[in-house]
Amino acid sequence: MKKKGLSTQAVHAGEPERQYMDSITTPIVMTSSYTFTHMNDVMDYITKKVDRFEYGRYGNPTTAAVIKKLAALEEAEDAEVFDCGMTAVSCTLLGLLRSGDHLVITDDAYKKTTMFCEKVLPRFGINASVVKMGDYDQMEHEVAKYGAKLVLSETPTNPYLNIADMDILSGMKERHGFVLAVDATFASPVNQRTLAQGADVVIHSATKYLGGHNDILGGAVLGGRELVEKIRDYRNTTGGVMDAMTSFLLLRGLKTLGIRMERLNQNGLAVARHLDDHPAVRKVYYPGLPSHHDHEKARKFMTGFGGVVTFELDADLQGTMDFLSNLKLFKIAPSFGGVEALVTHPMTVSYYDHSPEERARLGIHDELIRMSVGIEDVEDLIDDIEQALGEKAK
Ligand SMILES: *Cc1c(COP(=O)(O)O)cnc(C)c1O
Repeated sequence: MKKKGLSTQAVHAGEPERQYMDSITTPIVMTSSYTFTHMNDVMDYITKKVDRFEYGRYGNPTTAAVIKKLAALEEAEDAEVFDCGMTAVSCTLLGLLRSGDHLVITDDAYKKTTMFCEKVLPRFGINASVVKMGDYDQMEHEVAKYGAKLVLSETPTNPYLNIADMDILSGMKERHGFVLAVDATFASPVNQRTLAQGADVVIHSATKYLGGHNDILGGAVLGGRELVEKIRDYRNTTGGVMDAMTSFLLLRGLKTLGIRMERLNQNGLAVARHLDDHPAVRKVYYPGLPSHHDHEKARKFMTGFGGVVTFELDADLQGTMDFLSNLKLFKIAPSFGGVEALVTHPMTVSYYDHSPEERARLGIHDELIRMSVGIEDVEDLIDDIEQALGEKAK
């Protein structure tokens, strides 16, 4: 049968064929455990003659549906979901690595991922090299030097939206035989086919585009069965499961993933273009703009460029803060990828605890702003930016 399109899969994949009471939607199954009527049923389950649910930490019907839907969307052999994106990251690393192993990450990784690799993993005898994003010679040098078992890259990265070169990464993987894990939260399964491009496991914070409504925390890992099984075993032991209610909200959010991404890609590009030749703006970072340093890579590996637009105002810190406070539609909040327009000031919201030197090294300037467009009408988003710029815009 002809393979169905992404939006058709988003609506239908994973939902059980025959629903409880002929419901259209998959119900929220609120139960901590599952009953057996006879000891023979227990034996059938224990000896794997029947596949069913036993205890909530190992599975739930609502959660099982969302796992299947996500696997269909990424065209992954297997998938697992978690209570948040960081659990997906930590379970992947702790599930796949052991004491004595080495991994390589890039210097623009998600802040808590970096902290986990630098502060937590060493306590278990797992050490990480942090290499400059885009310096693949340095990466290969570190991989070879330590015989790295895993490379974790993100794409696009925060906040400059650097793009990983999947061809170089998969070539390196062939030469050295590490596991290539890619946190593709900023790409989504719609804008990039990360697994097809060579990743062994792809990680998503479902809090962002997948959930898409700024109302849940969630995480997902997708990839080959053997790797996902190891990550699942680790999670089944330590916890971090996605509950039934959250699974339902994620199922519901995913149904509109295709149309939401289409709109976010459009709004993102339109806002980026508007800011790009704006006298009040010093520089715009959006992979869909030809002026972006990784535009060619973005065009090679992505089909859409997302709803996150980073830019620097031609102002000082106070001017930047005034602009942020003046915005009305764009609410000041971390996170991105939902239907509501949000804006964040990385220097204060995410990096206030860093020294000025560390911030400079990471390129977190005082005037840096990260916008996440919502699905609002783009004219209204642009009007909001203009009124917040006030006098400066004239
Ligand atoms: C948000 C995010 C995470 C963490 O996800 P949570 O759901 O907040 O735990 C990890 N990686 C990236 C790239 C993210 O944007």
